[in-house]
Amino acid sequence: MPPEDEDNELYPEDWDTPIPRELYSEYEERPFRSCTRCGESLLEFAEGYQVAKIFKRGETVFEYALCGPCHRGLIDEFSDESKRRLEDYYNEHMQPGLGGEVCGICAQHRDQLHDPEFALGAMCNGSSLLETFMLCNACMEKTNELVSEKTRGIWGDFINDNFPGVPANFAPDPLGVPIF
Ligand SMILES: [Zn+2]
Ligand SMILES: [Zn+2]
Repeated sequence: MPPEDEDNELYPEDWDTPIPRELYSEYEERPFRSCTRCGESLLEFAEGYQVAKIFKRGETVFEYALCGPCHRGLIDEFSDESKRRLEDYYNEHMQPGLGGEVCGICAQHRDQLHDPEFALGAMCNGSSLLETFMLCNACMEKTNELVSEKTRGIWGDFINDNFPGVPANFAPDPLGVPIF
């Protein structure tokens, strides 16, 4: 059984922070155990793994977890120009260390957003949360404008391959999220 952590609503920068419930797999009703792309057990990867979730009006509408090799593999397929633009954009606009309650780019608190949609990204290792960040939908849409058609296509393929039944242009485009 995963550790219970219902009281843990904070995101302290403590390497031994348990993964909060809102970063659990909604589908599995427990912390992510396996990579969405390759199916390997996430606990096997010493380098950790990435979790991304999109929430709309408090409900999870999209979620995945990627092991290190799959995460790098996905990013590697993005066009060089898209990668550069995203990196430049984040270097310029992203404030690190804001945690999961505040948009890392515009610094709006999630409770103040007019748009009820936002993304959470997290780096985890085993059953620990290393880092988390939030992006509001407006800021996500801005980052999605930065990427090329090719990169959009790669993202679309990733969605089609791993989320059958979800149209790629349903666009829970956490395209910016995976670059971290
Ligand atoms: Zn994988
Ligand atoms: Zn924002």
